[in-house]
Amino acid sequence: MQTIFEKNNGTNGINLTDNTINTDFISDKFKRTDKIGLPQLSELDVMRHYKALSDMNFCIEKGFYPLGSCTMKYNPKVNEYLANLEDFNIHPEVANEMAQGALKLMYDLSDALLKITGMDALTLQPSAGAHGEMTGMMIIKKYFDTIGEQRKKVIIPDSAHGTNPASAKMAGFDIVEIKSNERGQVDIEELKKVLDKDVAAIMMTNPNTLGLFEEKVEEISKIMHENGSLLYYDGANFNAIMGYTNPKLMGFDVVHLNLHKTFSTPHGGGGPGAGVVAVVDKLRDYLPTPVITFDGTKYKRCYDVKHSIGSVKDFCGNFSVLVRAYAYILMMGKNLKHATENAVLNANYLKEKLKKYYDLPYDEPCMHEFVITGEKQKHENGVSTLNIAKALMDGNTHPPTVYFPLIVHEAIMIEPTESETKEKLDEFVETMIKIAEECKTNPDKILSAPHTTPVKKIDEVTAARHPDLNFKG
Ligand SMILES: *Cc1c(COP(=O)(O)O)cnc(C)c1O
Repeated sequence: MQTIFEKNNGTNGINLTDNTINTDFISDKFKRTDKIGLPQLSELDVMRHYKALSDMNFCIEKGFYPLGSCTMKYNPKVNEYLANLEDFNIHPEVANEMAQGALKLMYDLSDALLKITGMDALTLQPSAGAHGEMTGMMIIKKYFDTIGEQRKKVIIPDSAHGTNPASAKMAGFDIVEIKSNERGQVDIEELKKVLDKDVAAIMMTNPNTLGLFEEKVEEISKIMHENGSLLYYDGANFNAIMGYTNPKLMGFDVVHLNLHKTFSTPHGGGGPGAGVVAVVDKLRDYLPTPVITFDGTKYKRCYDVKHSIGSVKDFCGNFSVLVRAYAYILMMGKNLKHATENAVLNANYLKEKLKKYYDLPYDEPCMHEFVITGEKQKHENGVSTLNIAKALMDGNTHPPTVYFPLIVHEAIMIEPTESETKEKLDEFVETMIKIAEECKTNPDKILSAPHTTPVKKIDEVTAARHPDLNFKG
């Protein structure tokens, strides 16, 4: 017998009924003889340690988080409670008969998401947006293989999200990039130039990463379909269009959604997500397995999908994310549309307020986000977008997405989301104006920001080249 935890300074943070385990089956030569030397801490010490660490972090509960393309909105806490209900904590291998409730939830969630996207069939399995993209592109690949066409190319506009080319490449395609026109839209002439019978699909984000709605989307869909090609819709930021239009109406064949952006799962720390992929009828037989079916009485996991690309994740995906999304959709009901309205209204409000102080490269009505540039500040005051982003941290604000999309120099991509009040937006505008003024009057303050965060300005080159990953208490 061996004592697992020895008390050596009288402090104890654990309470085990039996502090010994039988180690007789372990050969003596593998047994530790010296003390483990673990820190001896009380429960309260440990709590304080982790609380102090969490206080150093920034989160939506602390302040405004306008991280473009990431939809860092408020996720109702009641959904966390629901996802943690004991009855949802079931083993993924449990038989269909014993999991009817969970299967019904997935079936009904699928139904709701099909209505929202306009599509005909879907998989809940992929665990992130990029994972959904790869799944969608694998479906497209298998489709062309099955109908005997060897199409190798995928067209991607230069305004697309960075994950798009990576996902298409992972699925085995070659990427053809096309330039946007001067209004930040897909250039139809550029598209026609690269279109041939070798093109499997176009991957588009609509609104694109400039936050602009692609006005020519129906024409693009017609051109692509006439060429026998398919259209992939990156629907990660669905709060831009939800309830107003959908990818099916625009002529898309495959779409992925980020349930962890639009549908209420907190994200950003690398936690579980769900990159649901929905398809039109002719791609139904290519979905990953299992798909959830209902015969009128019983729900079931079905593995019998004719041309399935196979499973892309274990079991049915990240179930707890699906519970949150289902709860969110039920709670919102018809108000899903108001989420879209507010997301778009908030973005346009900020854009109009800020364009007097920062250059706005595409002065058009935007959707859920928009892109300004710090070029003026850079050339006139020697203060870069990175410095402005750091200065925002002193204003209890998470920096926006910066230097993306790549087609805008010194880009600052702002997505306020639907959950902020006008007061909060005005506060942000004040902070941005103050920074723009300080760029002129006191650039050193901006250049040396942040001043109020637990970690001050870091040496990014050293941090990247010689990362120090050890914790120092
Ligand atoms: C966030 C995002 C993705 C990627 O989603 P992940 O869950 O981070 O993999 C893809 N496209 C767009 C437009 C996004 O905003």
